[in-house]
Amino acid sequence: MKQRIFEILTGLAAMKSFTGTAAERAPAQWFADFFRAMPYFQEHPEDTGLFEIPNDPCGRGIPWALLRGKRKDTVVLSGHFDVVPAEEYGAAEEYAFQPGTGKLEELLRDFPLSDGQRRDLESGEWLWGRGAADMLGGLAVHAALFEAYAKQAETESLEGSILFVPVPDEESYSAGMRGAAEILRALRHRYGLDYKLLIDPEPTREVDGAQVFSLGSVGKVMPAILVQTKKAHAGRCYEGFSALSVLADIYLRTNGSLEFSDVYGGEATVPPTWAHLRDRKHGYDVSIPHRAGGYFTALSFSATPEEIGQKLRRICTEAFNAQVQKLDGEYQEFKKRSRTERREHIHYEPCVMSFHELCALLRERDRDGFAAFYAEACARAAAAVDRGEASYPDATLDLMEETLDYSGIQYPITLIGFAPPYYPPVHSDHVRGKEGRGTQALRFVAALSEREYGRPVVSENYFMGISDLSYGAVTAPFDYGKLAENMPLWGEAYRIDFAAIEENAVPSVIYGPIGKEYHTFAERVNRHSLFHVIPAVTRALIEYMWTV
Ligand SMILES: [Zn+2]
Repeated sequence: MKQRIFEILTGLAAMKSFTGTAAERAPAQWFADFFRAMPYFQEHPEDTGLFEIPNDPCGRGIPWALLRGKRKDTVVLSGHFDVVPAEEYGAAEEYAFQPGTGKLEELLRDFPLSDGQRRDLESGEWLWGRGAADMLGGLAVHAALFEAYAKQAETESLEGSILFVPVPDEESYSAGMRGAAEILRALRHRYGLDYKLLIDPEPTREVDGAQVFSLGSVGKVMPAILVQTKKAHAGRCYEGFSALSVLADIYLRTNGSLEFSDVYGGEATVPPTWAHLRDRKHGYDVSIPHRAGGYFTALSFSATPEEIGQKLRRICTEAFNAQVQKLDGEYQEFKKRSRTERREHIHYEPCVMSFHELCALLRERDRDGFAAFYAEACARAAAAVDRGEASYPDATLDLMEETLDYSGIQYPITLIGFAPPYYPPVHSDHVRGKEGRGTQALRFVAALSEREYGRPVVSENYFMGISDLSYGAVTAPFDYGKLAENMPLWGEAYRIDFAAIEENAVPSVIYGPIGKEYHTFAERVNRHSLFHVIPAVTRALIEYMWTV
């Protein structure tokens, strides 16, 4: 088993399957061939395939394979095969893709290492390299286990069923796992499978010597805000109103605000962090920017996009009013100094709309005209994303602005929309009809790991790093239509099949080898965990899950 895990890991690492690129096709093809070459699938060719992701700009696919055992009780194995780029290795970059040769470790000795890193390097207990931890290591464990189970399935001695779905794009937009929902649904329909548990072998961390097992995964929503105020020459600033002041005020009221922090079982989501905030000018001129836009990440355990949108609506109105008041206050002081000023007061009415409300207004005005405009504008925004010229959130702001242009609205307005990607919060204990499944898996793993390997396991309710688990089941249901209508790019460019996810209802957990500092040059995975503990415990967990 150890040898096989190592071979698969090094083979995958050499493919340099950078996230969001066509390089992700190589491991997908490798897995598809790996499955097809197995005698079991020569007998059952209909139970494996390479699912093409619809409209994928990189032409990526999702390999999948199903071993049908004596029972329909099915454990789903998954994991992502994309990796993040590796420039930070500098001159050692090439060796980051050759884990286990020792070459990288040799070069790392001359890196500015922390004491902990140097200790781990000297100990020889860790395997270093890009993807070793995140997460080709865990994926290789699942591949090796699957291979062993395929041999059992050949002789029809497999007790339960196993579906293996390795996915691309986890580090970017999760196109892989969103697409996998369709595979899971189709197979459930075809064979009446009962999905017991999905195990995602993402790297796990150690806390005081105990390994962390994640029962769920945090939700993420990305609100995009576009502010329009009033343009003026900088020399006549009181005739205008800067969009930057309003957006900056919204930023100050949201960034880091605990009002957006959800709490569950002693865990809390970190408050919002803005990723982008600027005016919408294309170059410099001497006018006050009358438009500004930005977007931020809001994490949640339970808050729905609608609830977050409602909070924002209130905050945007408060920020707008506060800035009008501030401007007027300044103007009153200025008037005392300048005898040419004549206005009594500066006043603007607040107007905050959701993106959907603006669209509804425009549809009312001219249904066909708006439909034609929007189809064209949306296709253009989506094409810019496909060509890599714009990110999803940037294309979202562009599309919101184009719609505002189309509306011809000149008065101050604040628009609130949502940008992809969206990750629903999920918890394996709260899947309808399978309540408590995650904790059941955790108890089994904790007992075995401690007894056999002296490695205690502790749990966390939510993995805070955002993960593919989000697309296994819906455990905090909400009005999906309301999200879709406020996400300008929803449709061809980005979609989540909530109906399929709800139907699949797979309780999902994260349990993979212990890793450290992934996404940096110090990425490493613990050899003992990777080669011994995780394969043995995962195997036992699969077989236990067939019986619950
Ligand atoms: Zn990962």
